[in-house]
Amino acid sequence: MIRTEHLCKSFGELHVLKDITTNIKKGEIVSIIGPSGTGKSTLLRCLNLLETPSGGRIFFNNTDLLAKTTDVPAIRKKMGMVFQSFNLYAHLSVLENLTIGPVKLLRKSKADAERQALELLKLVGLAEKAAYFPDELSGGQKQRVAIARCLAMQPEVMLFDEPTSALDPTMTSEVLAVIRRLAKEGMTMVIVTHEMEIARTISSRVFYMDEGFIYEEGPPQQIFENPQREKTREFINRVRRDYYRITSRDYDLYEMNAEIEAFCEKHLLSKKTCDSVLLLVEEILLLQKDFSDITLALAYSEKDGSLEFLFESAGEPANPLEDGERDDDIGIMLIKSRCDSITYKYENGKNMLLIQVKA
Ligand code: ADP
Ligand code: MG
Repeated sequence: MIRTEHLCKSFGELHVLKDITTNIKKGEIVSIIGPSGTGKSTLLRCLNLLETPSGGRIFFNNTDLLAKTTDVPAIRKKMGMVFQSFNLYAHLSVLENLTIGPVKLLRKSKADAERQALELLKLVGLAEKAAYFPDELSGGQKQRVAIARCLAMQPEVMLFDEPTSALDPTMTSEVLAVIRRLAKEGMTMVIVTHEMEIARTISSRVFYMDEGFIYEEGPPQQIFENPQREKTREFINRVRRDYYRITSRDYDLYEMNAEIEAFCEKHLLSKKTCDSVLLLVEEILLLQKDFSDITLALAYSEKDGSLEFLFESAGEPANPLEDGERDDDIGIMLIKSRCDSITYKYENGKNMLLIQVKA
């Protein structure tokens, strides 16, 4: 359906896409992942000529997009694009957002367009909101309207550019559910995403972009379980960390808890995991005697979903989980029940507890 040959794109001296040669077939779901600034959006924008390539060729159903005789607007109608920022018409109702394109560009009757719009709103779970205006909707609802609006143009392929990156986790999952549904219905899709879960579970192929190329591509099992090249491995195995420091007994408990919750939310960890971490932190701090120099670190591995919690405190060697008095036994039991493993060591004047949090 979409084929590129030696596609390149530069902005002045900046060579963003150096040589993209690929072929996307009807019915495929391709996820594009990679560090930011590696040209993922630029590639997507080149595919429907929102950016003019600096070189190479693009074919859509064997039509050469860059040939002078090609009717670009006609082809662009067949490629729906969904952006991070929704781009709905603020002055039109949800229903009108969905009908304006089909009426003006596809010459549908208003009645037909409205009938179809209501069907699509049902598909994305928003039939009740037809008369609302975009400002009256949540981010997740806006994005679902944007997807429905795109579908109203009856595209042959949908291009998504980070469709969930402006959304918080609950809204992310409602948008991902809609994308999953489209996948089931056989829609051809190209999805730029930082959501490894979606790339892993719905794509038929994953492109890892780096250095201006599709650095590695393959089925999700290969890219996520067994990446062949070094940069892919590095990207896939990267670990996200967050630290919190305590320097006195009067530390701000609420701020710390809020930060831990934000970290868990950002990485889509379950409520249960998040509660475990909060409980672990609280119980361990209860056993603590010296508050002059404590560091809490959370490390989440995107690859296997494991969560590590490192507790470091300055002072005399003392394993808080072993030196506890009888009163603390329940606390220690609680801690142990939430962990897969706990290791203690004393290094450079610091007590360190490394805890694998139960998923
Ligand atoms: P990604 O989507 O992978 O984060 P982009 O495709 O947005 O990356 O951008 C790749 C590089 O191209 C970045 O360095 C960005 O600053 C640059 N870039 C993107 N669009 C433009 C533009 N219109 N003019 C100049 N530079 C741009
Ligand atoms: Mg981008």
